[in-house]
Amino acid sequence: RPKAQRLPQWLRRPISTDQDYPDVSKLLGSLQLNTVCASAKCPNRHECWNRGTATIMILGNTCTRNCRFCNVNTGRPEPIDTDEPARVAEAAKRLNLRHVVITSVTRDDLPDGGAQIFADTIRAIKGVLPEASVEVLTPDFVEHLDVVLDAEPLVFNHNLETVRRLQETVRPQASYEKSLKTLRYAAERGGVLVKSGLMLGLGETDEEVFQALEDLYSAGVRLLTLGQYLAPTREHHPVERFISPEHFDELAARAREMGFEGVAAGPLVRSSYRADQLVAKEN
Ligand code: SF4
Ligand code: SF4
Repeated sequence: RPKAQRLPQWLRRPISTDQDYPDVSKLLGSLQLNTVCASAKCPNRHECWNRGTATIMILGNTCTRNCRFCNVNTGRPEPIDTDEPARVAEAAKRLNLRHVVITSVTRDDLPDGGAQIFADTIRAIKGVLPEASVEVLTPDFVEHLDVVLDAEPLVFNHNLETVRRLQETVRPQASYEKSLKTLRYAAERGGVLVKSGLMLGLGETDEEVFQALEDLYSAGVRLLTLGQYLAPTREHHPVERFISPEHFDELAARAREMGFEGVAAGPLVRSSYRADQLVAKEN
């Protein structure tokens, strides 16, 4: 394994820590909830939390899959917790969130993949925070998508993560086709904004990125995020390239030319970065 890579200058910046947000951390802990923001030590916490956006992870913190870029534990997940939707809604209300992103590990062990808990969570949030917008970032459970979409989230997000050639290396239990099928299903059903994203730096070429963008657009995706992949540890898939902020701007311009209506692209962009703005642009 290579030594830890030196980060380019544009990725070195002071990041906030959970100590900067003692109330948020305490509240989430007391409600036994995880934010992706805190558990992934996301560098955008300061910005997102001050804007009233957070990403809450439901259905436990153990995943049935083991993608090579992801730091979530793999194993046998906990039983589902039917009180979780109410606790998520309580947290969203107490944090006074304006845009709530709900995501989960992939629960291939559950007959419905966790779709019902997603739906219950969307309804619970809308019940206590009618003004907030709800975005779901789900697994590729296309068979159960109606259950989730019937609860009417504003945004349906599912990440393609990488280009076609690298799928098997990077997310061995997923597939390019299944992810596109999931996105296409949501777009064809209508009534929801469909969003997806890629991490760059996994070994893809720009040409392969453009092909993936064409495929996403054809599937009906109109909101897009492009960010830099950073290896969580040296045991994970290595970073093959660092994309400069200028190059991200060029990729974003190309995506807009292709017809994407909301695009967030940059070294620190994550799937939920500026999620509220991306939607506002669309409207
Ligand atoms: Fe949380 Fe997403 Fe913002 Fe990161 S980008 S702080 S995970 S809402
Ligand atoms: Fe991580 Fe999602 Fe892959 Fe599970 S399915 S390992 S949570 S990226």
